[in-house]
Amino acid sequence: MTLNHEASTSSVVSDEEVAAMVTGKDGLRVLLQPQVDLMTGRIVSAEALARWQHPRLGIVMPAEFIPAINRMGLDKLLFERVSLHVIDVLLTMRRAGIAVPVAINAPATTLSDERAVDFLLDRIYKAELPASLVRVELTEDQPIRELDVLRASLMKLEDAGCEVSLDDFGTGHASLKLLSAIPLSEVKIDQYFVTRMRRSAVAFEVLRTAAELATRLGWRVVAEGVENVADIPALRAAGCRYGQGFALGRPMPLEALMVRLRTQRDGGEPLAAPASYASSWIEAFDGAVTEAEPAFPVRATAQ
Ligand code: C2E
Ligand code: MG
Ligand code: MG
Repeated sequence: MTLNHEASTSSVVSDEEVAAMVTGKDGLRVLLQPQVDLMTGRIVSAEALARWQHPRLGIVMPAEFIPAINRMGLDKLLFERVSLHVIDVLLTMRRAGIAVPVAINAPATTLSDERAVDFLLDRIYKAELPASLVRVELTEDQPIRELDVLRASLMKLEDAGCEVSLDDFGTGHASLKLLSAIPLSEVKIDQYFVTRMRRSAVAFEVLRTAAELATRLGWRVVAEGVENVADIPALRAAGCRYGQGFALGRPMPLEALMVRLRTQRDGGEPLAAPASYASSWIEAFDGAVTEAEPAFPVRATAQ
C-alpha cells in the first residue's frame, strides 16, 4: 500500500505504540491535500495531514491515533513534528520557485499553549520563510475552555503573519462567540453539509448562510469534502470560492503535489476566469469528469 491511498484500519493501536510513534523518529508521515480555487482550478494552498506508517498495520489514519495523542498530552509534540515537516515542504517549494501556503491542523489545547506557537514562529524565522506561507487550522474536536488564552495565542500567530483557519465549521464546538473573538482568515465548512446539500434544502441553506456570514466578515470560504465535480457550480453559487476534496485532489505525498504545482507554475498566470468559464477548467482535472448533473435545485428538505 502506498501513502497515496487512503486506508482505514479497524485494528486497535495501543497507547504505548502511539506514544512511541510520536516520540520516535520513524512512523509519522505527512500527506498534503491541495485546496483549489473553484473559479480557476488553481491550487491555492495545501493542508498537511498526518499518517502513521505502522510496521505491522500499514497506513493508520488520524482518527485512529489523534484522540490518543490528545488524551496523552502528546499533542504539542505532534504539532512540533508536523510543523518541522511543513517547514521542509515550504523550503522544497521555494527551491522550485513556488510559494503556496501550507496548513497545519491543531486543536485548541495545542494552540492555546504559547510554547507551541513560539516553536512554530521560531522555526519559520530560522528558515527565513514568510510567515504568510504557514497557516494553522483550529480543529473543532475539543471544547474551548479558556477562550482568552486561545485568543491571545492566535493573535500572536496573526501578528507574526500566519493565517488562522477554522476547521470543520458547522459540526464542532465553534460558537458565534468564538467566531467573533478569534482572529480568522478562513473558515472550512464541514463536509457534512457539502455531502448533504444535494438532497437537503436545509443543508444547502445552512451552507449558504454560513458562507455568507464568513464572507461578510472578510474570511475565505472553503468547502470541505468535495467529492463530485458536478457539485462545484452549486458550491460557487452558495458562496464557497474555494474547495478541498477527493474530486480536486486526494491527500498525496509532496512529490505528487510538486508535479501539479510545477505544471501550474509553468502554465503562467492564473486565468482571469469569468463564471461562465469556470465549469470548463475542471475537465482537465485528474480525469475525474462525470457528466454534469442538472443545475442545482435541491430535491428534498429532509436530511
Ligand atoms: P480535517 O482537518 O478536516 O481534514 C480533512 C479530512 O477529510 C482528511 O481526513 C481528508 O483526508 C479527508 N478528506 C478530504 N477530502 C475528502 C473527500 O472528498 N471526502 C472524504 N470523505 N474525505 C475527505 P484525515 O486525513 O483522515 O484527517 C482526519 C482529521 O484528523 C483531520 O480532519 C484533522 O482534524 C485530523 N488531523 C489530520 N492530521 C492532523 C495533524 O497533523 N494534527 C492534528 N492535530 N490533527 C490532524
Ligand atoms: Mg484541517
Ligand atoms: Mg475539516
